[in-house]
Amino acid sequence: AIDFKWIRDNKDTVASNIKKRNSNANLELVLELYNKMLNLQKLIVTHRKQEVERLRGERNAVANKMKGKLESAERQKLIEEGKDLKEGLLTLEEDLLKLIDELQQEAQCIPNMTHPDVPIGGEDSSTIRKTVGSPREFKFPVKDHLQLGKDLDLFDFDAASEVSGSKFYYLKNEAVMLEMGLINWTLLEVMKWGFTPLTTPEIVRSSVVEKCGFQPRGTNTQVYSIEGSDQCLIGTAEIPVGGIHMDSILSASLLPLKYVAVSHCFRTEAGAAGTATRGLYRVHQFSKLEMFILCQPEESDFYHEELIKIEEDLFSSLGLHYKTLDMASGDLGAPAYRKFDIEAWMPGLARFGEISSASNCTDYQSRRLGIRYRSSEPASTNPKKGKSNLSPPQFVHTLNATACAVPRMIVCLLENNQQEDGSVVIPEPLRPFMGGLELIQPKS
Ligand code: AMP
Repeated sequence: AIDFKWIRDNKDTVASNIKKRNSNANLELVLELYNKMLNLQKLIVTHRKQEVERLRGERNAVANKMKGKLESAERQKLIEEGKDLKEGLLTLEEDLLKLIDELQQEAQCIPNMTHPDVPIGGEDSSTIRKTVGSPREFKFPVKDHLQLGKDLDLFDFDAASEVSGSKFYYLKNEAVMLEMGLINWTLLEVMKWGFTPLTTPEIVRSSVVEKCGFQPRGTNTQVYSIEGSDQCLIGTAEIPVGGIHMDSILSASLLPLKYVAVSHCFRTEAGAAGTATRGLYRVHQFSKLEMFILCQPEESDFYHEELIKIEEDLFSSLGLHYKTLDMASGDLGAPAYRKFDIEAWMPGLARFGEISSASNCTDYQSRRLGIRYRSSEPASTNPKKGKSNLSPPQFVHTLNATACAVPRMIVCLLENNQQEDGSVVIPEPLRPFMGGLELIQPKS
């Protein structure tokens, strides 16, 4: 339920937002298609009325015939008229469906509105909200995670490249324990905040991907589609979790609904050439824990802050040096109203690298997914009004945030915790989840 009427009535605001967001949405085309749709709907209503008139006429004609008054030529004329009307109506209805499809497709590109405090501009205009720690000073030559992985026998990129292609990997030995340790520790930490744990389907319908604000088609899509089906591999658990309550009206007393989902994520990484792509930094498949909240509109800013606090607590507990950024308008993607990224110091790259992202998507996804809630308080106390005394349903707000994107966390932990003797120290919180392992030692 994209609110086209609102978009039409607030055309200038929407146009300036599209510009701010550096989006290629075509507002003029959307409004033109919307207008066409309204006209076609009117035409169909007129045709339906004519069809009703015709049926009424036919009924009268039959009644008259019973009285022996109708000429057979007259009767034939009525039948022909009826046929034309029916065919005309069918064509109009088919045209309408095609038009709605085209309109939805174009409207997908229109981004969410933007929080007034969001810095305006491209990537470089994002502002730093918080910095924790400082880069560790190494008194020996620093290895990147690829070298550490080689020396400690933690990955196999060569075999993965043969078996699957580039940007795939096998984790081996302690790297597997690190992945499992990170998943289990993070899951339990996030559950302490009242989140329900989930594992999710990793294949979803393309329509759900679209409703979450992602583009499953096109040359630059990040989404892997499954040939011969209407399904895709998920790029993030945000999609199957967003879909759980699709097309439903929730009771306000259930909100907020908080989920933490563990899944694999699959990304084509189209257009990623030139960015940091070596090793585990940017891969086609990775494990991730994603937090997802559905809440009442007036609470979404509060839960956005909560999500950032959880992320910052997790990364501080792991001893990372990081900064939290208020992302600029041109770097928000379509669904987010506001987004905070966290970047951690990566000694192998000698710079910060993104490890998480927390977005408030307000009602952008819920409108498309059809997720509403109804207050438990009746709007009117008049018992005579029966059902109508329930308050009208409203769209929930949705938020999502990364709790742990495993491969980048492995990059961070290996590179930041390396020792001069080539070993790597495991952060204390993870040790109980890794059989008490304290150190990854060079083999023999
Ligand atoms: P996103 O859902 O795009 O906000 O990504 C969430 C987090 O997943 C990012 O902050 C990265 O830490 C991580 N990530 C994104 N893409 C990749 C990738 N191709 N390979 C490894 N990690 C990734």
